[in-house]
Amino acid sequence: MTTALVAGAAGFIGSHLTDALLLSGYDVCGIDNLVTGALENLTDAKKSSSFHFIRADIAGDPDVLLAQIENELEPPAYVFHLASPASPVDYVAIPIETMLANSRGTQFLLDASKRWGARILFASTSEAYGDPAEHPQRETYWGNVNPVGPRSCYDESKRFGEALMMAYARTQNVDVRIIRIFNTYGPRMRRNDGRVIPNFVEQIATGVPITLYGDGSQTRSFCYVDDLVDGIILCMKAERARELVINLGNPEEYTVRELASVLCEISGVSLSVVSRDLPVDDPTRRRPDIGRAMKLLGWKPHVPLREGLRRTLASYREGVGSPR
Ligand code: NAD
Ligand code: UDP
Repeated sequence: MTTALVAGAAGFIGSHLTDALLLSGYDVCGIDNLVTGALENLTDAKKSSSFHFIRADIAGDPDVLLAQIENELEPPAYVFHLASPASPVDYVAIPIETMLANSRGTQFLLDASKRWGARILFASTSEAYGDPAEHPQRETYWGNVNPVGPRSCYDESKRFGEALMMAYARTQNVDVRIIRIFNTYGPRMRRNDGRVIPNFVEQIATGVPITLYGDGSQTRSFCYVDDLVDGIILCMKAERARELVINLGNPEEYTVRELASVLCEISGVSLSVVSRDLPVDDPTRRRPDIGRAMKLLGWKPHVPLREGLRRTLASYREGVGSPR
């Protein structure tokens, strides 16, 4: 049985990844300090005897962490590093923890991967491109990042994490791969995590106006979580993804105002908005070029926005994604 370590397993994406790996027959060890995740996301995983969970900070004492993991399972073949706050509201509130998860935490997982002979995948972000001057964003674009702005704790620590992955590949012969994830949504996003889809869903559900930051003309491209998880697993398995950066996201681009309209339409309510200030350094346009993922992984997203939003709304109605 192949063994996988998922750092950030109790989070939104990490928990879906964990479920998918278990379903495919992997032995999975999840590690999470629950800073932005929730144990209830692992309700399904915990029913499996192939699932192990360690509550720990990946930026903590490396010797203690290593002993905890090795006590729990065989050396993993695959290490998925998703442990980092991801919502701007979260990482702006805990910038130091965010930077340590992506720096010290990444170093710990790289050292451990070297020791185990494991392959490691780092979940980086479209934020590595900052407020992009190139559109759509290809992996070859170096980005336009404010190194000292409020988002820099996330953007720069993800960029540091990417550089550290490549340094370990070059000097320590570790088998690494990096994905840059674009806005992903679906069931289990924390209702109060501050990201645009949970905010809008909650506002529609409670009958208050939708908060549009700025004039709502900024764009994002939204990927349904099941599509993303397929891409993550394909990227981990693909020999030819070694030492590469690969964008994973849905290239369908919407303005934030359009997103609000679609959500209202499928919820059967009329659009009512209230304007709020645009957050500092909020990227103006974002859309992935997924040519590399299509060519190397044979991957592309399949779930259209309306369908993904319908599934997300249904899960919130069932009570999934409660506040921490
Ligand atoms: P999330 O906040 O739901 O999940 C992150 C998980 O990591 C949480 O369970 C949290 O408790 C855990 N964590 C954070 N710091 C930790 C630490 N030091 N030690 C152990 N666990 C820790 O966020 P998500 O949306 O699921 O994002 C998962 C990963 O994907 C993150 O690395 C994020 O940067 C990346 N990503 C997500 C998106 C997106 O749209 N969701 C976009 C780009 C990149
Ligand atoms: N946004 C908004 N209203 C909200 C939350 C977010 O208009 O209640 C906007 C935000 O300014 C950004 C986009 O929606 O332009 C996506 O924000 P999110 O925090 O989900 O992720 P980001 O792409 O900024 O990391």
